[in-house]
Amino acid sequence: MLQKTPVRPVYLDANATTRLDPLALEAMLPFLKGEFGNPSSLHGHGQPAKAVLGRARAAVAALIGAEESEIVFTSGGTEANNAAILSALATQEGRDEIVTSAVEHPAVLALCAHLAQSRGIKVHVIPVDGCGRLDMEAYRAALGPKTALASIMWANNETGTLFPVEELADLAHEAGALFHTDAVQAAGRVPVRLSAVAADFLSLSAHKFHGPKGVGALFVRKGTAFSPLIRGGKQERGRRAGTENVAGIAGLGAAASLAAWHLLTDSDRIAGLRDRLEAGIAELFPHATVLGDTSNRLPNTASIAFDKVDGEGLLVLLAQMGVAVSGGSACASGMMEPSHVLKAMKLKTDLLFGAVRFSLSRDNDAEDIERALAALPAAMDKLCGPTPFRRAVEEAAAALHPAPRASLRKVA
Ligand code: PLP
Repeated sequence: MLQKTPVRPVYLDANATTRLDPLALEAMLPFLKGEFGNPSSLHGHGQPAKAVLGRARAAVAALIGAEESEIVFTSGGTEANNAAILSALATQEGRDEIVTSAVEHPAVLALCAHLAQSRGIKVHVIPVDGCGRLDMEAYRAALGPKTALASIMWANNETGTLFPVEELADLAHEAGALFHTDAVQAAGRVPVRLSAVAADFLSLSAHKFHGPKGVGALFVRKGTAFSPLIRGGKQERGRRAGTENVAGIAGLGAAASLAAWHLLTDSDRIAGLRDRLEAGIAELFPHATVLGDTSNRLPNTASIAFDKVDGEGLLVLLAQMGVAVSGGSACASGMMEPSHVLKAMKLKTDLLFGAVRFSLSRDNDAEDIERALAALPAAMDKLCGPTPFRRAVEEAAAALHPAPRASLRKVA
């Protein structure tokens, strides 16, 4: 009997996490097997561990244009964000306000909400427009003599929208405040140069660029006062106590070097695949809408809202067909709730529940995109039932806007 070759799943959810690169795994393995030494030990057992921490620090620094001494290893993006925000509040005397955006990751927003509730910290949450762009007037107005820190992400995880971090950092400094940017989705996907952006703190996370989970880094600019989140031993020059996650950091370092290389060699290819996906969706579903700032976003992210469609249902059906994507809603108290990002963008109700995020990585190829495009109409038909009505609507819309369409509808 002929054996069926298993079909490779199509993974288009890189903003959730990425596959560990085999070279990053190889860099980790010695420290999970024979090399058990503590990097703080003075005897020979600690030397390989100490050396790999140094190499990883150099690789992470090179990825973001920082100095090695400015890198503090953490357990990931969440810890880095918490450490930056709490440090600013602890060190900025007489300043107890935070400025942030409505579309930050919960690793920023949940902490800010907790600080507001438990410590009475005033948090200015700056709104965004329909494309997810920051309201710059509101940002300027919120900064003042009481601002300890402005924390605005480099790139949004749901829409890929990029923020003008260079200008945002300068404005924060003019007000005498520190500036932190959550670059968890940006590092390894777009050039991040801390020589051009005067951020005081920057967070990144290995698992978004083919490194291991549970490890990341906080950049702390030289000369910036720092109060550690985790206190204890003298590791990380007193900035993050606890015996280092040596294997994880080895993987982070290798992943950072690989990301720097792929950033140069693979970004245009990934953006081309994303554009092909969007063009294909535009032909199949003329009423679909691209979310986010289409002129200024990550090259790997396509956030699409399907009009009057249950996006969550669509992604479940796509998953059954071997295509992994994310949705823009989540189940809260038995009800579907659109994400805080889409709500902040004030999407029409018809679009709010129909958002699906396709996020690509260097692992994807043209076949993945064609397979996703082939699965979408089948999933949509299953979701909406045999759909003479939907077909009729789509066909009428297609007749009004004949293919080939240059691009999808953009949110005004
Ligand atoms: N910040 C952003 C923008 C993210 O997308 C994520 C993860 O999804 C995080 C922070 C949290 O990073 P980690 O999973 O490393 O804690």
